[in-house]
Amino acid sequence: MLIVMKMDATPPEVERVVSTIEERGLKANPIPGAQRTAIGITGNLGVVEPAHFESLPGVLEVIQVSHPYKLVSREFQPHDTVVDVAGVKIGGPEIVVIAGPCSVESYEQTLRIAKSVKAAGAHILRGGAFKPRTSPYSFQGLGLEGLEILAKVREETGLPVVTEATDIDVLDQVAEYADMVQIGARNMQNYTLLRRAGRCGRPVFLKRGMNATITELLLAAEYLLDQGNGQVVLCERGIRTFADHTRNTLDVSAVPAVQRISHLPIVCDPSHASGKRHKVLPLARSAIAVGADGIMVEVHDQPDKALSDGPQAILPNELETLMEQARVLAPMVDRSLGALV
Ligand code: PEP
Ligand code: MN
Repeated sequence: MLIVMKMDATPPEVERVVSTIEERGLKANPIPGAQRTAIGITGNLGVVEPAHFESLPGVLEVIQVSHPYKLVSREFQPHDTVVDVAGVKIGGPEIVVIAGPCSVESYEQTLRIAKSVKAAGAHILRGGAFKPRTSPYSFQGLGLEGLEILAKVREETGLPVVTEATDIDVLDQVAEYADMVQIGARNMQNYTLLRRAGRCGRPVFLKRGMNATITELLLAAEYLLDQGNGQVVLCERGIRTFADHTRNTLDVSAVPAVQRISHLPIVCDPSHASGKRHKVLPLARSAIAVGADGIMVEVHDQPDKALSDGPQAILPNELETLMEQARVLAPMVDRSLGALV
């Protein structure tokens, strides 16, 4: 933190700021300038409250230099974190594609879609068993039955599975079945759930809240790392803006912003960002071009009959096109897509 003194600040006022810093067990580093004095604060382990200094006489402004987060930052760990989801590595040289239906609706539906996901060359299967729905009258997911279906489909296809835990009551159960536990946008700031997810023993897929800043996203991830879970994938899934031509606005700028300050991988979800099928491929291409570590897309072979998010689900043949395009784009950002298995 840096305290900038006013131009007419007197030496006793500077002295008072210095002693206030030292009384808190911190080190004051005065930097006299031609016009004014600035005082750097070092030796703090946690966040220093700016309010302690803002109201002292002679102080012009207090500038936060270090970030409020620690464990997620590149200062703490300069090299990229690679998250291992049952052998699929997110954050390494290969772009990872996570695809599947919004909701697990039946064994047959999940298996059919999973087979098309695998045939297209995608790497991880998604599918919600516990669904966070805006309306209590909408399909809420199959719950435990949905988790069992995902486990069976994983056995059939060999695809690792990511699925959402909507509250602490189901988190342990989800962690038992899933290869990666998803924390949804609506729960990004559910700190009790984050703490539990930080102890669940599985990688966590943390989606950015629709109203959350990058700092808030990183602080949510900090809860997971603070509980000992460093296997965290961040997900930009669109934020609320004034735009009314789209469900949300995919904030592609979040990708380089996060990569600059954090070592955690970041994936984009163009499905929940757009809400419309025809926007999913263009936005997915933009995510790869901007340097995302992967993409999550919703796929359905009968989107008109889907129990949730049908209008944004791409068809299996569109997923194939997306994979082909991703394979072409990846080398432009020094990545690859991994061989078709
Ligand atoms: C989902 O991935 O199914 C989902 C509900 O996403 P979000 O939390 O981003 O809305
Ligand atoms: Mn969905």
